[in-house]
Amino acid sequence: MAINCDEGNRGIIKKLLRQRRNRMIKITVEKFAKMYVENNPGEKFNEIKSNLKTALSRKKAGAVCGDCGQPIWAAGSAIVGFDGCFTCITGESDHSEDYEVSE
Ligand SMILES: [Zn+2]
Repeated sequence: MAINCDEGNRGIIKKLLRQRRNRMIKITVEKFAKMYVENNPGEKFNEIKSNLKTALSRKKAGAVCGDCGQPIWAAGSAIVGFDGCFTCITGESDHSEDYEVSE
């Protein structure tokens, strides 16, 4: 019984750690657009900003990834031009150090 308990707790801790690690960095639309154009010269700030806003409002309205049905990753969807979640857009499951836009 004791072993089962420990395993249960470890499972919960692992889950918590994973959630924490997978938490994306929240950034405003304005900041993300600025950062994006700085890293991608040639992209238009206003265009990126409006794409981000549209993606964010689609996410708020409950838009889901066309591949797997997870909530969309607004920042990524705005850049790639289709509604997808982080995993389907990047092919990675580790969300850490990636940005998600908020208002
Ligand atoms: Zn997906």
